[in-house]
Amino acid sequence: MFSARRLFGTNGIRGVVNKELTPELAVKIGCATGTFFQCGELIVGHDARTSSPMLARAVVAGLNATGCNVLFAGMTPTPALQYAVKNRKVDGAVIITASHNPPEYNGIKVVWSDGIEISRDQEIEIENIFFGNAIRYVEWNKIGEVQTLTGGIDEYIEAIKEHVDVAKIAKKHYHVVVDAANSVAALAVPKLLRNLGCKVSTINANVDGTFPSRPPEPRPENLTELARTVRAVNADVGVAFDGDADRAIFVDETGEIHWGDKTFALVEKYFLIKNPGERIVSPISSSTLVKDVADAYGGEIVWTKVGSVTVSHTMKKLNVKLGGEENGGIFYGPHQAVRDGGMATALILDIMADTNKSLSSLLGELPSYFIEKGKVECPNELKEKVLEKIIEQTRGLNTSTVDGVKIWFDDKSSILVRPSGTEPLYRLYAEAKTKEKAEALIQEFSLKLKRIIDSVKG
Ligand code: MG
Repeated sequence: MFSARRLFGTNGIRGVVNKELTPELAVKIGCATGTFFQCGELIVGHDARTSSPMLARAVVAGLNATGCNVLFAGMTPTPALQYAVKNRKVDGAVIITASHNPPEYNGIKVVWSDGIEISRDQEIEIENIFFGNAIRYVEWNKIGEVQTLTGGIDEYIEAIKEHVDVAKIAKKHYHVVVDAANSVAALAVPKLLRNLGCKVSTINANVDGTFPSRPPEPRPENLTELARTVRAVNADVGVAFDGDADRAIFVDETGEIHWGDKTFALVEKYFLIKNPGERIVSPISSSTLVKDVADAYGGEIVWTKVGSVTVSHTMKKLNVKLGGEENGGIFYGPHQAVRDGGMATALILDIMADTNKSLSSLLGELPSYFIEKGKVECPNELKEKVLEKIIEQTRGLNTSTVDGVKIWFDDKSSILVRPSGTEPLYRLYAEAKTKEKAEALIQEFSLKLKRIIDSVKG
């Protein structure tokens, strides 16, 4: 890890604290980042992990040593920090978070002045400074200062409220159960919901960086307590967050947990009804549902590689207002082109209030698909060759090769075959109108893939 002149992965710099990600490394990353920003003004904030204050202080020391002034926001949800960058008109931010990773991990994200994480080219600049010993320390009398940023979460809440019909939502007196994952979500979301006139019940809302209640990834298997609570208190909706509150997964009033592309498709539908003809950005791993909705309501999908930063950058480049991922990331451009769990929650309530429908009936109106997943082992060094072969063998079919190969069939089924970015394997995601068909696709393509891997080996 952190070798071969590479620090940044798909979501910033990540590692196990005090093994891969030490305070010493964090100081140097702070110095490299400060050199990159050339004595600018940066916001620094962090999630609720036990290691976050330590790593944040280390990064701040590096930024100050290279002449950057720091507005220190302390423990804050990631989307609130990203919003603060734009709102306070600073040069960027450094966010200490490992999002949904287990508690022993932490990470460092670098954000540009538009609130979006820096581009790969900018990451390379920081890596070149880091590995090329090109850090520029400033003279003793140019060392940066630290000021405290206060009010950031309240400004973030007010900004979200500007994009929904607060009075209409408030009239409904929705009862919402929030599963805050013991994370920074607890600092913003319950207050946002009370501001929207909701009755709020919380679970796992004591901020605790050991994540004692459930893993910080809001996967359905981690949300049974939320589903049970929604039913037990007769709530209208439940919402669960990840460790830095940029992703939100919803539970309807019957206690059913819905995966992210379903709720995204709902947001997409009502966005397109109000904004016909708009384009929507979504990673190729999303459900065909997202395309069905675009087709039905006059939108157009721009498929991207998997990864939230790619979605943000594509939205910005093409001036697209809405993006979404299957994992519960919703990017609402009029607010900010980054995923934002609080904004997603407000948008869902806005749709419920506007249509006067329950979440289960709104989601029930969308087409439904069965999803099956699979994996096939493949040595990292063969991945590229294997991918070329798959592309060759699927030529003539309705495919996208934006990330791996996705094939759409005439019966609305599809399969995505994609090399894992982190493990020596290929992942397969099949989707179909019946469970049997989805399973059959996984079987068929696992076999095909194994044959190709064997032939490439041979
Ligand atoms: Mg996250």
